Amino acid sequence: MVQEYDVVVVGAGPAGLSAGLFLARQRASCLVISKDLGGQLNLIPKLENYPGTMMSSGPILAKTMENQYLMLKGDMTFDTVEKIDEIESGLSVKTSRSEYIAKAVVLAPGKVPNTLGLDNENSFSNKGVHYCTKCDAPYYQGRNTATTGVGGYLVESGILLSRMASKVYVIYKGGGLGGDKEMIDLIKKKENVELVPNTSIKSISGTNYLQQITLLDSSGAEKTIEVDGLFIEMGFKINLDFVRHLVTLNTSGEIEVTDGGKTSHPAIFAAGDATRIPYKQVISASGDGATAGLSAFNYIEKLKGKHGIRADWKKTIGDTTYHY
Ligand SMILES: Cc1cc2nc3c(=O)[nH]c(=O)nc-3n(C[C@H](O)[C@H](O)[C@H](O)COP(=O)(O)OP(=O)(O)OC[C@H]3O[C@@H](n4cnc5c(N)ncnc54)[C@H](O)[C@@H]3O)c2cc1C
Repeated sequence: MVQEYDVVVVGAGPAGLSAGLFLARQRASCLVISKDLGGQLNLIPKLENYPGTMMSSGPILAKTMENQYLMLKGDMTFDTVEKIDEIESGLSVKTSRSEYIAKAVVLAPGKVPNTLGLDNENSFSNKGVHYCTKCDAPYYQGRNTATTGVGGYLVESGILLSRMASKVYVIYKGGGLGGDKEMIDLIKKKENVELVPNTSIKSISGTNYLQQITLLDSSGAEKTIEVDGLFIEMGFKINLDFVRHLVTLNTSGEIEVTDGGKTSHPAIFAAGDATRIPYKQVISASGDGATAGLSAFNYIEKLKGKHGIRADWKKTIGDTTYHY
C-alpha cells in the first residue's frame, strides 16, 4: 500500500533534518527519506563553527538532530528517491524500494565533493586530505599545504590557505589559472604561494596522516614534496535528476529558491547546499531547512483551509506594533 504523508523531506543532512524537526513539531505528518544520516556532516570530525555547540563533530550533530526529530514523532526511512511526479492528490515520491504520496515535498539532497580518484585518497580524508578549504583551512595555521582543483575554486582555495598556512603549493593541470581575474592577480602576489602549473598529483602517502604528495608534470617528471595538508577543490556533484522536470535550476545545476525556500513549483520547497544559497555551511543549511519546513507546513495548512504560521513576528499598524 502506498503510504501518504503531509510532507516528504528528501535528505537527512542538516537542511533535511531541520526541515523535518520543524514540520514534526507542528504535528504535520512527515517522512524524511535519505540515503544516509548526516550527509556531508559525516565529513566533519571537528565542527567549530556551529553556534551553541563546543567540541562537537558532524556525526554527533547529525545523531542529535535525528533524535530530536524522532522524539517529535517524525518518520524516517533510509532509501533513495528516484522520481517525484505530480499526481491528482499531490506528489508521488518513488524510491528504490517503495512509493509515497505527499501534499508537499522539501528537497534537501545536498551535494557530494568530487575526489581526485587516487587509490588511497579515502583513507587520508580528514587526515591531511580535505575537500572544503573555507571549512578546514583554519586547522593549517603556520603549516605546509598544497591545493589542487579547477577554475575559481582552486584560486579561492589558494588565497584562503595563504592567510593561514606558511606555504601553499597551488597545483593545476593546465598552463594558466581559471576564474576571476582580480583573484588571479591577487594570488600571484602572495609571497607564500608557489604556483605549480602543468602538473597533477600522482600519489599521496604518509603513516596515519598525510606527509607527502608526488607530483607529475606534463614532461613526465616526478617530484615528491612534504605537506601537512592537501586541499582538493574539484567542485561538487548535485544530483537532481529525480526532480529536475518539476523545479527550475540555475546554470550551476542548483535549485532556484526565493524567500521561504519556495521553488518554481508551489508544492515543492528546498533548502541547503542543493539550492543557490551562498556560503554553503551547516548553520545556513539548518536555518534554511527550518524555514523551508515551515513554508511547507503553511502550504499544507492553506490546502486544508487553515491559517498556518505567521511568517513575521511583528506587524506595525498605524502607531502600534503588534508582536506575535
Ligand atoms: C569536507 C567538508 C567539510 C566541511 N566542514 C564544514 C564545517 O566545518 N562547518 C560548516 O559549517 N560546514 C562545513 N561543510 C559544509 C556542510 O557540511 C554543508 O554545507 C552541509 O552539510 C549541507 O547540508 P545539506 O543538508 O544541504 O546537504 P548534505 O549534508 O549534503 O545532506 C544531503 C543528504 O541528502 C541525501 N540525499 C541526496 N540525494 C538523495 C536522494 N535522491 N534520495 C535520498 N537521499 C538523498 C544524502 O545522502 C544526504 O544525507 C563541510 C563540507 C565538506 C564537504
